[in-house]
Amino acid sequence: MTSWAASWAKAPPHTDPIGTLADEHEFLTAGLTQVACAACTTEVLVRKASRRQTSIQWRSSPADSCPEFAARVAAGELSARIDTCPRLREAIEEAVAAGALAVPDD
Ligand SMILES: [Zn+2]
Repeated sequence: MTSWAASWAKAPPHTDPIGTLADEHEFLTAGLTQVACAACTTEVLVRKASRRQTSIQWRSSPADSCPEFAARVAAGELSARIDTCPRLREAIEEAVAAGALAVPDD
């Protein structure tokens, strides 16, 4: 029986579902991590002050670079609570889950 060998050969290669985040990670000083929005590819610098607190540094005007954000601004929804588009927030959460974005313990 050599079927086990065949199944080994068919084993999938190492996969990294969020490899795009990991590949582009640039750990800058001051704990800022580059995260790209999955929807609009806007790149921002993110720092987690705690599990709940996320600081986002836009390198360009959000309304110019992110369609989601622009739509919210146009709809008059922009407020202090909206600091990122939902897709970017998801990307940030994925970065945290992947360990690419450090979250200090409280
Ligand atoms: Zn976006």
